[in-house]
Amino acid sequence: MGAFTAGLAAAQGVGMALRVSCATPVVGPVGGLLGVGLASAAAGQASIATRQYLADRKVPGVQAPPFRGVRSEDLVVDALLGIAFFKVMGGRFRSVMPSDVAKVGAIARESMPAAGVEYATEKYRIELRRLFRRDGCHHCGTRRGAVIGDHMPPNKYVKEYVKTAERAFFKLPFVKQAAEALAIPTGPPKQRYYPQCTSCCEKQSAAVRNDKLKLVFHEVLHHGGRSQAWHYAGTLLGLRHYSGGSAGGGSAGYGANGRRR
Ligand SMILES: [Zn+2]
Repeated sequence: MGAFTAGLAAAQGVGMALRVSCATPVVGPVGGLLGVGLASAAAGQASIATRQYLADRKVPGVQAPPFRGVRSEDLVVDALLGIAFFKVMGGRFRSVMPSDVAKVGAIARESMPAAGVEYATEKYRIELRRLFRRDGCHHCGTRRGAVIGDHMPPNKYVKEYVKTAERAFFKLPFVKQAAEALAIPTGPPKQRYYPQCTSCCEKQSAAVRNDKLKLVFHEVLHHGGRSQAWHYAGTLLGLRHYSGGSAGGGSAGYGANGRRR
């Protein structure tokens, strides 16, 4: 479990270094999938090492050189099982990568239609506070501080779209009428409110103003909301290595309890 969490955090670090966010097309979800696979293989090896320790009362890796006795089929099976568990339990691969503050964040679960480019009114704020307490900031996952109704896509992009669309395309005769007749949307993109913290809001205004890519870390195994089940992908994986063992009884019992709770 610890190795699984550490593996996912490492995957997010790699995403950060390579400037891949949860909103990056293709590479974002694929990077997340690879991250889950690697984290699962690491969790499997940690389980094997624990089982061996419980069986022999010897710290593995001290007497034996590292990586000796690592079976490649264990790595592959653990990686594939981990990916399958993660997906079945409702995990999203894109959410393993860091959040891009100019896009919908990795923690995002629920949002509501925004009433134009204005700040959220009190009616919306009550609901936003509820989402913030439950799920946290959609970029970093914190539940601390005040909640902000974050417009997605950001106001600046919507305003720019309206300006270019009006200046170029829809000024041509009949274009707008033809598009409307064919039911092609001609209006600005519909915006939605997402719960956001003040720190991410400040990072976002700076990033959008300067057209800079700004990524933020989030808690990969985020507690709360509906994302909880897939925390146990790593625990389930560990159980595989205990099923045949006898000495690992105590630890396996703990894992099974943790899963059912
Ligand atoms: Zn935040």
